[in-house]
Amino acid sequence: MYDVIIIGGGAGGCSVAASLLNRRKNLNIAIIEPSEEHYYQPAWTLVGNGLWNIKDTMRPMRMAIPTRVEWLKSYVTTFEPQNNAVVLADGSRVEYEMLVVAPGLELHWEGIEGLVDTIGQNNVVSNYHKDLAPNTWEVVNRFTEGTALFTQPAMPIKCAGAPQKAMYLSCSYWEQQKSLPNINVEFLTKTPGLFGVADYVPPLMKYIERYNVNLGFQTNLVSVDGPAKKAWFDVTDGEGKTTRVEKAFDMMHVTPPQRSPQFIRESPLADEAGWVDVNMHTLQHNKFANVFSLGDACSAPNAKTAAAVRKQAPVVAENLLAVVDGKTQQAMYEGYGSCPLTVERGKVIMAEFGYGGKLMPTLPLDSTKPRRLNWFLKHEMVPHIYWDWMLLGKERLTRIRREEKGLEGMAAE
Ligand code: FAD
Repeated sequence: MYDVIIIGGGAGGCSVAASLLNRRKNLNIAIIEPSEEHYYQPAWTLVGNGLWNIKDTMRPMRMAIPTRVEWLKSYVTTFEPQNNAVVLADGSRVEYEMLVVAPGLELHWEGIEGLVDTIGQNNVVSNYHKDLAPNTWEVVNRFTEGTALFTQPAMPIKCAGAPQKAMYLSCSYWEQQKSLPNINVEFLTKTPGLFGVADYVPPLMKYIERYNVNLGFQTNLVSVDGPAKKAWFDVTDGEGKTTRVEKAFDMMHVTPPQRSPQFIRESPLADEAGWVDVNMHTLQHNKFANVFSLGDACSAPNAKTAAAVRKQAPVVAENLLAVVDGKTQQAMYEGYGSCPLTVERGKVIMAEFGYGGKLMPTLPLDSTKPRRLNWFLKHEMVPHIYWDWMLLGKERLTRIRREEKGLEGMAAE
């Protein structure tokens, strides 16, 4: 029996454990996590462009989990929220007073026919996996002419900007190498627009024009034949009619479809779409009062990013302890997420926004402008903020909104 059980030792699980212990030292907390390795995934975009080494994105899990937390090296298969228990892979049951669910999301590689057989070969690459991101760079580095496709599936995905970041950085490298005029670049996305927050679209369109990228909206990758270098897309027109289109490629960067993990989708904790069903402001479960969730697995409609986790972790820690103490939950998450859009090697548009696309810049600067300063932040500062602040529960640059009357106060607004 633990005071708090946390499912997942990723960005969300480790940050919230540290934030809880900073508030209440004597809590008896366990993290259930099967992996020996903890990855800083935001740097995989840079790995895919030869600008970071994949080894530098990993630390042993033991170093990421706070020392005062017990690590149960297993994975959860089933929830028993009525009994305040979870079942582990070996069939054992673990009981809790409070539960935090943070297992991330599932990359659904099988959702595209033929992809599993060819990913990492035949110039079909992806930054979305630690074993694949280094191969993106190998292919981009030796690519000098032909057709390069970059795909993006339906939302939500983690880091919605990452599919186009892979494209901009590749184009920037080819521009430096003077090979860009010989390369036909296409960005093919299931979404109806380039980016979900309107203010960032005009500056991104300047780069689309500069790199001479052909855009295909409502264009969804459904099948690939790696050896034949052919891919098939379902293209939906303005009247909603969908046609299957074949495209030849010489290289293709694929962002896989993404969904809630199966053990969440099939659990009593899931909402209709399969995500952990939480209140978007308090991050408390809508049915089970002693359950909270954060990170990619939760249903809050924010951009699924580690940056979002940075603001969510203190909200969960504070509200969870309020429930334990029988007090009103006052900490309110406003949907903050951030996507450093690496539009060229050396410049970044630091997209930071909350619910409803409201811009929420950390620095008092126009966040729609590409800047060298932001490149420094992405490359040097943000990893430091992740490892040395977030995972240690140091909540700097993480001012959160508090409502004395809790959700009642939000509703009155
Ligand atoms: P994760 O960090 O993925 O951790 C989930 C953990 O849960 C894992 O350790 C896993 O082993 C564990 N787990 C899974 N199933 C179980 C189970 N059944 N039982 C117990 N444990 C389980 N974010 C940004 O802020 N900025 C960026 O620029 C950015 N770029 C990105 C680029 C790429 C290519 C990718 C892939 C991601 C990027 N992200 C970025 C997103 C960011 O990495 C994620 O949003 C963040 O890691 C989510 O944290 P999480 O804790 O929810 O999930």
